[in-house]
Amino acid sequence: MSTDTIVAVATPAGRGAIGIVRLSGPATAHIVAGLTGTLPAPRRARYTRFSNKAGETVDDGIVIFYPGPQSYTGEDSAELQAHGNPLILHELVATSCALGARPARPGEFTERAFLNGRLDLAQAEAVADVIAAQSVRAVRSAQRTLRGDFGTAITNLVERVQQARAALEASIDFADELHAADLVQAQRDHCAILRHDLTALLERAQQGARLAAGATIAIVGRPNVGKSSLLNRLAGHDRAIVSEFPGTTRDLVEADVLVGAMPLRLVDTAGLRTTDDPIEREGIRRSHAVRGEADLVVLVTDSGDSPGHADDIAALEAEVPVIVVHNKADLRHTAPRRETVASRLHIHLSALNGAGIDLLIEALQQLLDVGTEDEGEFSARERHLNALRAALAAIEAITPDTLECAPELAAEHYRRATATLEAVGGRYSSEDLLGDIFARFCIGK
Ligand code: GDP
Repeated sequence: MSTDTIVAVATPAGRGAIGIVRLSGPATAHIVAGLTGTLPAPRRARYTRFSNKAGETVDDGIVIFYPGPQSYTGEDSAELQAHGNPLILHELVATSCALGARPARPGEFTERAFLNGRLDLAQAEAVADVIAAQSVRAVRSAQRTLRGDFGTAITNLVERVQQARAALEASIDFADELHAADLVQAQRDHCAILRHDLTALLERAQQGARLAAGATIAIVGRPNVGKSSLLNRLAGHDRAIVSEFPGTTRDLVEADVLVGAMPLRLVDTAGLRTTDDPIEREGIRRSHAVRGEADLVVLVTDSGDSPGHADDIAALEAEVPVIVVHNKADLRHTAPRRETVASRLHIHLSALNGAGIDLLIEALQQLLDVGTEDEGEFSARERHLNALRAALAAIEAITPDTLECAPELAAEHYRRATATLEAVGGRYSSEDLLGDIFARFCIGK
């Protein structure tokens, strides 16, 4: 339990109808009484007058006192609601400090909630994700994690890994030749189920991570085919420079757009062609790099071109899904349409007049799998995904050979899987990790 009391403005900077100052720590009751004259009844909103140390009125407003341990942080805490003027809020903070509080560090309220066992680490991170989410669906997935659904799924897996390990260790001690085959078979079944469930959970977490971060779509193609125009059309405003001279997009142009419920980062890359211009060469180098990192590639061609250009084919070899856009359909008076050729999706459209853009958006949603929300994703971070991947790798390392010849090694793999999964919820986490996570919060959270 902390010994010091922290205070911070919890509402965004700027002016508003209401501004909230938050307090947490053992001196909260003393500070609230100092500011308002008396301590209000627990969890009841009370209209009050806030005064500074000199007894002058700072503002009128509402005070709510939350005694620990049934509070957000698990400690005595309070919210002071005043008029949303930064001068007033800062005076409330200054008076609280004069009465014994100190300014909170970023994320310190949530850090205390974690340290006092009110939230596990994944939930604490989800608090920041709920606040930062850029689409309603990302908000929902962060709320699911905040409610603890992700943590419950992880705990459930941890228990089953531990059961499998216990069964294995018991068999190491008592195994005789006769039962060895049965034991190996039982362990193989355990591993198969664990692998399946870990993969499913990883999938839901990956989906959530993608929702939060947004997928990256690289728009590639030769100069002048209309990549910038397409990006502008999707983004709904002029982001990229459109020009009639080939090779103008020398750097990467990015735009964040919401397609359906999903935030997408569109990256318009330098035209694919060989060139002597060093700046353009750098642009092309980056465009290759982006294609490596993108979740999906949109390869733009001019609908009048003959297919099969060498660079276009290179783009088709990307490891991620590729949609081929045949642009400038208006020039050829072709109707916008969607077709599948050799299991590759082709869309004929016009970036200039917008005909067929809806077909592209629909295809993007489909390929990125964001059209439907079925079981529900969990907001997750790279840290969680890495832990799930490491646990999966540990379970996959348990082969029939290991089980038969080196069961102690298999038990060790189980132990490793357990430890990495437990790290998601923050058990045994290092101070560095905690510092890193909470430093990214804003002050007052
Ligand atoms: P980029 O080099 O691939 O980024 O191509 P731009 O977007 O700069 O476009 C090159 C030229 O093609 C510009 O003059 C655009 O106005 C034109 N353009 C782009 N899309 C279309 C289209 O769908 N139809 C027609 N007719 N012209 C287009």
